[in-house]
Amino acid sequence: MKTIGKTKKIALIAHDAMKDEMIEWARENKNELEKHQLCGTGTTSTLLESRVGLEMEKMKSGPYGGDLQIGAKISEGEIDMIIFFHDPLTAQPHDPDIKALLRVATLYDIPIALNRGTAEFLMSSKYLNEEFERKNIDMKELAKKRREEFKDLK
Ligand code: PGA
Repeated sequence: MKTIGKTKKIALIAHDAMKDEMIEWARENKNELEKHQLCGTGTTSTLLESRVGLEMEKMKSGPYGGDLQIGAKISEGEIDMIIFFHDPLTAQPHDPDIKALLRVATLYDIPIALNRGTAEFLMSSKYLNEEFERKNIDMKELAKKRREEFKDLK
């Protein structure tokens, strides 16, 4: 298990059709959000800074690799939670990147909200401002097992 501190590292992402809703939701949750360390995809972050006044670490824009950067941060232990206002009605050019992000978030047991309802649940969770025990992947053990699988290769 890995203990996540009281201050969470939260990634925020909103697809284009959901950006208005993300801004509205972030305004409603501003007091809570600003207690945490925030990052997000490029355009979402820029809007959350200029329209809501949140301090954001900006990744690249989603279609230009931002979702993958957030996925990489997950693998480095740099993200504790994701709020992703996902558009279920529009095909996205970076769909493979989104799938990669969702896969790695699932793998590392990262709480992730894909809609506003789940975002409300996460924001009202007793764990938001408390320590949280997350399943920890034993990378050394997994790497050892993988090496053993190939030990007889010539
Ligand atoms: P954006 O990326 O915040 O740069 O628009 C979001 C996305 O489409 O993944």
